[in-house]
Amino acid sequence: MISERRPLVILGATGTVGRQALEILRKTGSPLEVGALSAHRHAEALKALAEACPGARTYLTSREEERGRLLEDLRRGDYAVCLNAVVGAAGLPYSEAVLEAGRTLALANKESLVMAGGLLTGLAARTGGRIVPVDSEHSAIHQCLTGRRPEDVRQLLLTASGGALRDLPLEDFSGVTPEQALAHPNWDMGPRITIDSATMMNKAFEILEAWHLFDVEADRIRVLLHRQSVVHSMAEFVDGSILAQMGPPDMAFPIHYALHHPERVPSPLQGFQPELFRKLTFEVPDPRRYPALALGWDAARRGGPAGAVLNAADEIAVQAFLDGGISFPEISTLCRETLEAMPALPSASLDDIHAADAWGRRHARGLCTAPR
Ligand code: MG
Repeated sequence: MISERRPLVILGATGTVGRQALEILRKTGSPLEVGALSAHRHAEALKALAEACPGARTYLTSREEERGRLLEDLRRGDYAVCLNAVVGAAGLPYSEAVLEAGRTLALANKESLVMAGGLLTGLAARTGGRIVPVDSEHSAIHQCLTGRRPEDVRQLLLTASGGALRDLPLEDFSGVTPEQALAHPNWDMGPRITIDSATMMNKAFEILEAWHLFDVEADRIRVLLHRQSVVHSMAEFVDGSILAQMGPPDMAFPIHYALHHPERVPSPLQGFQPELFRKLTFEVPDPRRYPALALGWDAARRGGPAGAVLNAADEIAVQAFLDGGISFPEISTLCRETLEAMPALPSASLDDIHAADAWGRRHARGLCTAPR
C-alpha cells in the first residue's frame, strides 16, 4: 500500500480532536508519524502524549517564545500534514503558516475559514498548499466532490441536527436556560459549539466555510434539518444527481479521512449500519426557530471580514448568554445587529482580520450591556 512514513504535526493535541487523532493513528496502519505536538497550557498532558510518540517535538504555545518557534517551524515545512485542532481565533496564524509552506492543512479549527477563508484559500492557491476539512459536513462534501469539476456542481446541501431546542415550542424560547441549550441530541462537543448548534449559528458558519472551501456561491448552498445526523452532507450535480456521504456521528471518521487524504487508509472504525436507521428525515429549517442561520448567507454577501465580525459577535453573545446576561433569542439578535453595523473594513492580511475581530467584539460587548 503506502510505503514511506510521513511526518505529521498535531496542534491542539490535548483537546478532543487532537486526542482522537492520536488514538486513530495508534489503531490504524497509518503511514503518518507524529513529528510534533502542541498544546496551549496543559504541559503535563502534552508531556504524557509525547511519551507515546518517540522523537516528537513539543510546543507549549502559552509561552511566547515556543509559540514563535512553532510558527517558524511550520513555515519551514518540515512535515507532510498538519492537523490544526486549536480552539478559537488563536488557530488562525498556524493555518496561515502551514499554507505558506505549501503543506496539507487538515483543518479542525473552524475560525480559520470563517474569519479568513478568502485569505487562506488565496494563499493555498499560490503555494500549492491544500486544505482538507475535518468539520463533518465539509468532509462529506469534500468526499462527494473529489475528482469532480467545479462547473459540474449545481448546489451543496448541508445537513444540520437542529440542536438541543429543535422541538421546543417557539413561545418557550425566551426562557431557555444554558442547561437546556447545552443538551445536544447527537454530538458531544464543547459548550460554545453546542450553543451554536442550538441557534444554528454553527450552520451559518458552515455556509461560510463551504463557500470558501468549494468556491460555490453562497446562494447555491442550502441547509436541511436532518435529525439522525448520519447523512453528513450532500452535493447535487448539474445532471440532477445527488451524492451523500454517510457515517455515524463520530468525529473519528472525518479526522481519519482528513489526515490521510487522498489515500483511503484502512481503519477499525465501525461503519454506518443502514439497518439501524429505518427512517432518515430531511426538513427545511424554520427561520423563526433559527434566525441566526440567515446570517451565514448575509455575511457571505457582505464579504470582506464579515465572517470575522460575525464570529466575534457570536463568541461574545454566547458567553453573555451562558453568564446569564442576555436571553437565548438575543444571541441571534445581537449578532445580526453587529453585522448590520459593520463599517467597510479591509481583509487583506491577518492584521486586518484581527482588527475586524476586535471591532466585532467591542460592538457586541456594547450591545450586551446596553439597556434593551
Ligand atoms: Mg459541523
